[in-house]
Amino acid sequence: MSRVSKKRKIVSLIIPVLNEEEAISPFMAEMDGCLAGISGYHFEYIFVDDGSTDSTLARLRDLAEAGMPVRIIELSRNFGKEAALSAGIDHAEGDAVIPIDVDLQDPPHVIADMIAKWEAGWEVVLAMRSDRSSDTLVKSQSARLFYWLHNRFSAPRIPANCGDFRLMDKVVVAALRRLPESQRFMKGLFAWVGFRTTSVSYVRESRSAGQSKFNVGKLLDFAIQGFTSFSLAPLRLWHILGVMVSLLSLAFATFIVVRVLVHGIDVPGYASLMVVVLFLGGLQLIGIGVLGEYLGRSYFEAKRRPIYIIRKVHSRQDDC
Ligand code: UDP
Ligand code: MG
Repeated sequence: MSRVSKKRKIVSLIIPVLNEEEAISPFMAEMDGCLAGISGYHFEYIFVDDGSTDSTLARLRDLAEAGMPVRIIELSRNFGKEAALSAGIDHAEGDAVIPIDVDLQDPPHVIADMIAKWEAGWEVVLAMRSDRSSDTLVKSQSARLFYWLHNRFSAPRIPANCGDFRLMDKVVVAALRRLPESQRFMKGLFAWVGFRTTSVSYVRESRSAGQSKFNVGKLLDFAIQGFTSFSLAPLRLWHILGVMVSLLSLAFATFIVVRVLVHGIDVPGYASLMVVVLFLGGLQLIGIGVLGEYLGRSYFEAKRRPIYIIRKVHSRQDDC
């Protein structure tokens, strides 16, 4: 028993990286400083190289060669951050797992607070952004709108102002590994598995180096994927709209019939006819579009392709 209790707990840091050659050194320097102040744990770094085309992989291998506790999961191409996080989660061996961005927007000094709450019995410790002023107005406002919409129509709620940066106990990680879907909206999946959750707050800084890897198109795609993965509300909206339009049409038809009976046949009506035809045509197209969105997702899900493909796992023992 004493042997078990003396064993140092392992904390796995999962760091997805895409073309981050300039951000890796500042990240490791900051990490070293912060983790040195947390004694009694063994920290392993799991870098997931998400198809970088610059010297990111070489920089990571330098770290491994220098004897750092680094594992590198090299994906065969860019699969996106969500898939890269899944790869990291599948390979993490820690008693706790912390996904963290390499650009220091998730400040490492928060890790000490997270671990303290974890030791106090919490299974998930969220890092909440108390300040988003480093984000552009468009990004922060669109994020607000997304969370509002999502949390209004989907369950469970996703906490707003909270990214992937969080500590998860190994029971949570085991639950995440059991989720089979190939389209992974991680924030939604993290919330879906549940567990006892608390939070710590931090101020979000600007990127240490390089550029954000998410443009407006990617963010919009991400938001639609997130919303449709956890909610049937858009489909239901069309159901409700269909019923409402049918009732209105019925009322209008009754009105026309009664008018013909009372006043005789009335030929003019081109404008109103066109308005109704175009309006209903538009509604139908939008409805078909929403159906298509869900059908497309089911189609990709039905293929059961793996979430990511690994070219190589470079572990410490390897000749990196
Ligand atoms: N990232 C990734 N694959 C991608 C896009 C991003 O692994 O397809 C990584 C990126 O290298 C960084 C983290 O995900 O470590 C967060 O990306 P970024 O800082 O560009 O996002 P933002 O902070 O702007 O939302
Ligand atoms: Mg960033």
